[in-house]
Amino acid sequence: MTDNFEVIIVGGGIVGATTACALAQGGINVALLDMFNPQRQWTDDSVDLRVSALTKASQNILETLGVWEGMAQRRISPYKDMRVWDGKADGELHFDCADTEFNELGHIVENRVTVAALWDKLETLPSATCISDAKVSQMQMAEKGRTLVLEDNRKFTADLIIAADGRDSSLRNMAGIDVTGWPYQQDGLVATISTEKSHQLTAWQRFLDEGPLAFLPLSDGQCSIVWTLKTTTAKAYLKLNDVDFLEKLEQASGGILGKMQKTEPRAAFPLRFQYANSYTDESFALMGDSAHAMHPLAGQGANAGLLDAAALAELVIKTKQQGRPLSSKKFLRQYERWRKGDNLLMMSSMDVINKTFLATALPLISLRSIGMNIINQTPLIKKLFNDHAMGLRMDLPVLAKKQKCW
Ligand SMILES: Cc1cc2nc3c(=O)[nH]c(=O)nc-3n(C[C@H](O)[C@H](O)[C@H](O)COP(=O)(O)OP(=O)(O)OC[C@H]3O[C@@H](n4cnc5c(N)ncnc54)[C@H](O)[C@@H]3O)c2cc1C
Repeated sequence: MTDNFEVIIVGGGIVGATTACALAQGGINVALLDMFNPQRQWTDDSVDLRVSALTKASQNILETLGVWEGMAQRRISPYKDMRVWDGKADGELHFDCADTEFNELGHIVENRVTVAALWDKLETLPSATCISDAKVSQMQMAEKGRTLVLEDNRKFTADLIIAADGRDSSLRNMAGIDVTGWPYQQDGLVATISTEKSHQLTAWQRFLDEGPLAFLPLSDGQCSIVWTLKTTTAKAYLKLNDVDFLEKLEQASGGILGKMQKTEPRAAFPLRFQYANSYTDESFALMGDSAHAMHPLAGQGANAGLLDAAALAELVIKTKQQGRPLSSKKFLRQYERWRKGDNLLMMSSMDVINKTFLATALPLISLRSIGMNIINQTPLIKKLFNDHAMGLRMDLPVLAKKQKCW
């Protein structure tokens, strides 16, 4: 037996579940498939190792979908300030929410919080079907749309299949779409840390020899760190005992938050620059990390994926309202044109910043510090940078402007 839907999304992470939530509220008969069952409950004292700094644009999307409230009830942490400085020279950037119309620059949110609130919301939407423990193993062309075959041989057909199944997307391979990219030879080491001094609701980022070290403020007073290191160093640091690891971290922090007092288990994620050569094919679209993976130094991967989600949902809903088929290539090409350029620009900017800060030649180090200080002292340029970091740029999908797309 085959179950039929208008749209099937494979991957119930932040990006896929957001798309499902938007489509279901737009009256689309949508199924969300994931090979796991997302975690919905945990003890108050545990913190997810995976957190994301979510922009204002992302907040707008999740608020408009009625999901933000469920996230806030669990735990979100506003950050009001951002300080970025060069560990090898005197370059510094400071962004303060007092210079904006908002009470904060963004929020640090555990990934499991966002996913749990999205799945909770989906369960209240009549035109959404969530199917967990569902690993897709094959994708075939169907008379109308495509058919997915699961590992346990269940079959599902839809006019449009959306792959939000992460950086190593198997759906992308099944569709025969190639990627362009390279490994950074760097890992993002993540951990939760208690520090002697208060984080002051500030996101701190210090650029060091092997990459940036970020301290992201959590609502319980701890910090979630993302420490970019050479892969070999990250592997070695994972093996250190807590005391030795905290000592290395304290040295790297330049003492900005005082003594590093306590740490939880750590993990490291290999970093890649990677984009899908095409975002779409017949009755098929890629989004989120399956379409683009970027360096986490400015915390933009999930935010870019949420803009993909808002853009594609807007176009799918409009296409249905106009009575056109969801397998139509025309609106899929429109989605690709809308999102690919923006994502490539963001990824390339992260790539250039990473390379600039890895440079060891003295003239370059001086130049980048001069550049940082010029930006810091020029309100107009600083505002441009800040608006971009907060996701407040041109050509946003309507959900990101806090308007419904249905
Ligand atoms: C160290 C680090 C720090 C980061 N910090 C930030 C940050 O501060 N801000 C930010 O915006 N971004 C950040 N990112 C990026 C962000 O984490 C990702 O961009 C985001 O999580 C991608 O979400 P996604 O939904 O596209 O994919 P994923 O989260 O990878 O979800 C994919 C889903 O697909 C499912 N799946 C996979 N294959 C199948 C299959 N065959 N069948 C069924 N289901 C399948 C998986 O179970 C999973 O649930 C960071 C990344 C790293 C590595």
